[in-house]
Amino acid sequence: MRRSSFTLAFCLIAAALCVSPQAQAPTTIAIRGVTLIDGTGRAPVPNATVVIEGTQIKDAGANVQAPAGARIIDGTGKFMIPGMIDAHIHLRGGGGRSTSQPVTPEQERDGLRALHGYLYCGVTTVFDAGNRSEFIMGLRAKERAGAIASPRILATGGTVASPNGHGGPYTIEAWPGDRKLLDEHLATKPDLAKIGQDEHGWGTRPMIDQLPDDLLEKIIRYYHQHGVRIIIHVSNEHTAVEAIYAGADTLAHPIIQAPMSDRYVNMMRVKHVPTVSTLTIGENYSRLAEHPEFLDQPLYRDTIEAAERKRLKTEESAKQKDNRWAAWMKVMTPVAQDNMKRLNEAGKDIVATGTDQSSGPAFHRELELLVGGGISPADAIVMATRNAARALGKLDELGTIESGKLADFVLVKADPTKDINNAKLVDTVVKNGQIVDRSKLDLPVNRPGATQQQ
Ligand SMILES: [Zn+2]
Repeated sequence: MRRSSFTLAFCLIAAALCVSPQAQAPTTIAIRGVTLIDGTGRAPVPNATVVIEGTQIKDAGANVQAPAGARIIDGTGKFMIPGMIDAHIHLRGGGGRSTSQPVTPEQERDGLRALHGYLYCGVTTVFDAGNRSEFIMGLRAKERAGAIASPRILATGGTVASPNGHGGPYTIEAWPGDRKLLDEHLATKPDLAKIGQDEHGWGTRPMIDQLPDDLLEKIIRYYHQHGVRIIIHVSNEHTAVEAIYAGADTLAHPIIQAPMSDRYVNMMRVKHVPTVSTLTIGENYSRLAEHPEFLDQPLYRDTIEAAERKRLKTEESAKQKDNRWAAWMKVMTPVAQDNMKRLNEAGKDIVATGTDQSSGPAFHRELELLVGGGISPADAIVMATRNAARALGKLDELGTIESGKLADFVLVKADPTKDINNAKLVDTVVKNGQIVDRSKLDLPVNRPGATQQQ
């Protein structure tokens, strides 16, 4: 694994170095002989050629010729999928959403390590659905400037809710009086705006307040007038329907409180509103309680600090054994899995991957849970790429390997449409036409003595 990714890395770096300083044309690279899984749901194309020009995919397919002068990379035996997208994370390190304290170096380091973990695992775009604004927008600025190794960061920063509702700090009650809070939010340039609507916050927690429907509609319309999409936290069918008819663009979670009604499925068959799967967060509590040994799997070992894995396996595992919410989530996760399967049958572009977590391995757990619920591995790959891009309003740029899209892709060592676990066998990660040097990421796998710690 190391050797082949090193070889490819070497070739791409060599390709970049060989461009003479006078040449203005972007570097052209052709990856030949690869099996192309383009993210659209089309059958894998064996022996394909994918041409990258600068940051973009120029062409991809079986009958594509490598342009004269292009650097050739041999993809024989590898499988190319689009860069994977986690459409719902909360990046660790932010330390509370409403604090106005400056971001500390330790917090930024924790966030960076989590970002490195995503890249390592083949995730090239994340959407942060609620975090301390200074923290996440600061990292976003660095990512966009190319100053840090990171997946593409899309973020809402703070979230919108009713006072005593599910989110903040933008709590809206009076209209238009409280609109100035939305202006404050818009000034941070959110990629999407997240609204929290729940009567008890995703589970069996105390009752809280929701935005009334007419106010919700005004808020959504205001964001839309500023060109900003809405992703909304909902957990039951009634609230989801109200949110969709108030104008919400994407649902941040599946329906988890009950099996979906046929009426709801029919509505989704017509409206195709993207739903982010977030099965992992709920399932993770009982998994920690009952099977903490999952933390010894390779991707967890490679990307999560040894001390943190130890804490999760002991302290946190014990805590979750007594957490009744963990028990509730254990019961409801299969319901949510089945809801995702039924939604996918209603429309192949509806279900999008997201974890509501903050680690690369959690993303692969999400894929396992989708497939465990009866979805095919091939469809899970589409959810992880095209559908997640669609859920974030980025389908013009991301999510598939097609001409004109940004060159974000992953080479894996075995066919992920046959077995979703093969998506974990990451060989090479490319973001924006640039190969990610996985051996330079600030992760346990790359530290001296890493093997002893494991
Ligand atoms: Zn969330």
